Amino acid sequence: MAELRQCAWCWLVMDGTGTYRLQPGRKIRSATHGICPACKAAMLAEIDGTSPPALVAA
Ligand SMILES: [Zn+2]
Repeated sequence: MAELRQCAWCWLVMDGTGTYRLQPGRKIRSATHGICPACKAAMLAEIDGTSPPALVAA
């Protein structure tokens, strides 16, 4: 069984296809925490002060 990967920012969980789209509604302690593409883009935009190209369009 694959490990659970959860975004530590928005709590979305990666599904079997590698897409963060499951919404558990809480932080899962046993999951591996990372950052999803959407939050990463938002963070980069905050740092740069500009919006990155459509990285999160998919
Ligand atoms: Zn996120």
